Amino acid sequence: MERTLAIVKPDAVERGHSGEILKRIEAQGLKISALKKIHLTRAQAERFYDVHKERPFYQSLCEYMTSGPVVIAVLSGEQAITRWRTLMGATDPAKAAPGTIRKDLGVDVQSNAVHGSDAPETAAREIAFFFSTTELLT
Ligand code: UDP
Ligand code: MG
Repeated sequence: MERTLAIVKPDAVERGHSGEILKRIEAQGLKISALKKIHLTRAQAERFYDVHKERPFYQSLCEYMTSGPVVIAVLSGEQAITRWRTLMGATDPAKAAPGTIRKDLGVDVQSNAVHGSDAPETAAREIAFFFSTTELLT
């Protein structure tokens, strides 16, 4: 059993895709172990994306991630990290495989509908960033 963090980003929440995305997660057999909707502060976004702070898109990314509420979930299951990344598709929706969330619901390389942890260490950090251990169910 593995856990990963999923975020429905502001563009997808705004366009009413939260339910569709959660539906695809459950249809894939992943469990939703925790769930909440929040509006990230600028400080939270900057800390969450700390790893990208030297990248040219960092400021724009933080601006975008605070532009509206996000839906944040902890997903669990066998190989949850890879399975969620596969369901998401490539970072750039234009390059994402057919049937992936980013291909179907993403707008561009920044407004790409969803976030997913990329490794066990980042998943642990990202889950702890938003949830306490007592909030993680099954
Ligand atoms: N991003 C961007 N421009 C880029 C690359 C990434 O705005 O050229 C944004 C995009 O929203 C992406 C996030 O920064 O999801 C984090 O980038 P990363 O390379 O970690 O992609 P991911 O892991 O989300 O596929
Ligand atoms: Mg990433």
